[in-house]
Amino acid sequence: MRIIKYPHPTLRHKSKPLQRVDAELKKIVAEMFALMYEQKGIGLAANQVDLPYRFFILNLENDPAKAPEHVFLNPVISRRTGTAEAEEGCLSFPDMYAPVKRSAKVTISAYDLQGREINYQLDGLFARAVQHEYDHLEGILFIDRLSPAAKMTVQPALDDLERVFYGDRQRGFIPEDGEIVSRLAELEALRT
Ligand code: ZN
Repeated sequence: MRIIKYPHPTLRHKSKPLQRVDAELKKIVAEMFALMYEQKGIGLAANQVDLPYRFFILNLENDPAKAPEHVFLNPVISRRTGTAEAEEGCLSFPDMYAPVKRSAKVTISAYDLQGREINYQLDGLFARAVQHEYDHLEGILFIDRLSPAAKMTVQPALDDLERVFYGDRQRGFIPEDGEIVSRLAELEALRT
């Protein structure tokens, strides 16, 4: 398992709700936490590890000793209020940060790995992180939400990421789009 970087097409995959949680999915979640800690992230969505499943994980301190581990399966954001702007980064855009406007408070419901329903009213970093990760499940990236000025500032970094991606693809490290789409469809059929 590895974290895919922009502009990998799986980052644009809009995932369907999961119908089944099995032992393998629990193993995937555990692997994702390990990867997220290693990469110093606080959130990770399934499509960032090239999987078409509708869930994301969070640990707001990047440390299970300091903050709880959260798994949000089939999340739904039902209420958004206020506006707040803050700097964001994303493990699929290494070393790139930019200010993003989000709702200040959100209400989110989801299921955890044990099948229990979760209901949170959130603000601050927690609210920002769930909005960022929820967007991933819709195929939306934080660069889609930048002001024109912020977008201009990060454009050189985006160009670099694109050069690396297409270079890797040319060298055969990354499959063609059609192959990626059919693999995602196969995996999706297993659990949705
Ligand atoms: Zn992200």
